[in-house]
Amino acid sequence: MGKIIAITNQKGGVGKTTTCVNLAAALALTRRRVLLIDLDPQGNATMGSGVDKHEIEYSSCDVLLGEIDIRQAILPSEAAGYDVLPGNSDLTAAEVGLLEMDDRERRLAEALAGVRERYDYLLIDCPPSLNMLTINALTAADGVLIPIQCEYYALEGLSALLETIEQVRATVNPRLHIEGLLRTMFDARNRLANQVSEQLLEHFADRVYRTIVPRNVRLAEAPSHGMPVLRYDKASRGALAYLALAGELVRREHEAQQTPTSATTE
Ligand code: ATP
Ligand code: MG
Repeated sequence: MGKIIAITNQKGGVGKTTTCVNLAAALALTRRRVLLIDLDPQGNATMGSGVDKHEIEYSSCDVLLGEIDIRQAILPSEAAGYDVLPGNSDLTAAEVGLLEMDDRERRLAEALAGVRERYDYLLIDCPPSLNMLTINALTAADGVLIPIQCEYYALEGLSALLETIEQVRATVNPRLHIEGLLRTMFDARNRLANQVSEQLLEHFADRVYRTIVPRNVRLAEAPSHGMPVLRYDKASRGALAYLALAGELVRREHEAQQTPTSATTE
């Protein structure tokens, strides 16, 4: 059964969508079956996966509001190598509509239950806010991946996010855990970036991915061509970083699965 990872940080522009699209593409390249779920009204992950958000018949909005079966809305993306549950500005209406529904935080979890078997990884791109869409993502997810841009205000707001995760875990989703914190748009020559990175390691230790995504113009260019960087320029530093992240994610999961067994044999 596929693992569901919510990629979230209520801070805007920290690399959530770039991470969602390129991690999805990197996992797909290693022959994992991947579904990308766009929960952001901006629809950037949809566009970045080569699906035109203006042309779609159904979106994640229709799924959340229970208007259609999720299978009707999922589209294969040839350009990206994975499937997409697209999103667009209709999601703004979904956020309001959800507030009037029973079970409003479980709508995505219930929909994904129907397709989870088909995938190895289901990655959710969240909007830059802690709203009902993000709560749906956290309720559906097994783990949370938090992209962090190492700059002065990076850690501000992180405690609100961690509290929200804790609340969701305590109420609707006990299996939710922090999958990892990812340093994005990193500039190794910048002293402040290095200081913030040190602070992250102090606070979160091995929950910080070893992989660091560097600032790389190829990552910023790829979405305008409607494709992940692995298709646009597979030798770029950005592409290599997301391949490394996919490797680290898969390796961590193997280790986590093996730990209980090796502990009993020691
Ligand atoms: P939002 O909160 O608006 O959804 P986000 O957290 O999804 O934003 P992105 O859209 O992934 O962030 O990135 C913000 C901008 O920075 C985009 O223009 C993107 O192309 C660019 N960008 C992201 N990561 C990198 C990187 N490693 N190097 C260079 N540019 C990057
Ligand atoms: Mg985004």
